[in-house]
Amino acid sequence: MSDTMAGYKCAKCEEDIDVDPVNEKIICPRCSGRVILKKRPQERTTVKAE
Ligand SMILES: [Zn+2]
Repeated sequence: MSDTMAGYKCAKCEEDIDVDPVNEKIICPRCSGRVILKKRPQERTTVKAE
């Protein structure tokens, strides 16, 4: 199961950016900002209450 959907977003305009994590040269297509923040995949709180 591949449930790792880690995305990136621009630190300037907060535009969502789809990139390969392998590619290190990431530039925002919107403002050409080079400061990209890595978004955390949504953590699911799987608490088994049994
Ligand atoms: Zn931007």
